[in-house]
Amino acid sequence: MSGKKDTGLKKKKELAKKVIALLKEEYPNSDCTLEYDRDQAWKLLVSVRLAAQCTDARVNVVVEKLYQCFPDVNALAEAPVEEIEKLVHPCGLGNSKARDISACMKMLRDVYKGIVPDTMEELLKLPGVGRKSANLVLGDVFGKPAIVTDTHCIRLSNRIGLVEGIKEPGKVEKELWKIIPPEEGNELCHRLVDHGRAVCTARTKPYCDKCCLKDVCAKVGV
Ligand code: SF4
Repeated sequence: MSGKKDTGLKKKKELAKKVIALLKEEYPNSDCTLEYDRDQAWKLLVSVRLAAQCTDARVNVVVEKLYQCFPDVNALAEAPVEEIEKLVHPCGLGNSKARDISACMKMLRDVYKGIVPDTMEELLKLPGVGRKSANLVLGDVFGKPAIVTDTHCIRLSNRIGLVEGIKEPGKVEKELWKIIPPEEGNELCHRLVDHGRAVCTARTKPYCDKCCLKDVCAKVGV
């Protein structure tokens, strides 16, 4: 039984290696499409909360006005939640996003002296921050090993055959950690987003004929 498991894992590792190499070639400059200054990591926390069920492009526009009104952690921590809600309304779910942002900035100010912590454990204590957001911050801001299981990562990992029939983000992350070298995870996830938007799309049939992964992909469910 365990022999079979080992072989399956070995095959997946080999597949992951090929996928990483091919996507690197195809998307050499993939990066986070949420805009923020690397020395103002708190802005990424705000943006990633706003990005739930909203496009990154819209978030980038909305935060401009938000930061004109509330330019730093203290200002945002002191801002009335209703004011934040008005400004973030175009991103949808305004009330819950505004509440989370307010609570998160208050905790950052009061517990972390305004500095975003650099461990998964501490990041998960911040209101509105789940594993996906925490991994994004760890990978992009602190250059630590990270796997961001967003909708593109989950869809593509299943289609390609890196995971089998797993949709729950935490479980996908756990499986991917077994087969992806830690130092490759963060960039791979950015590339999966680019590939998911351009080629292996959710709303149309994926464009397998022009896909750089077509010779290695299992095309599950396609
Ligand atoms: S071959 Fe098709 S299913 Fe596989 S990654 Fe490419 S577009 Fe997606």
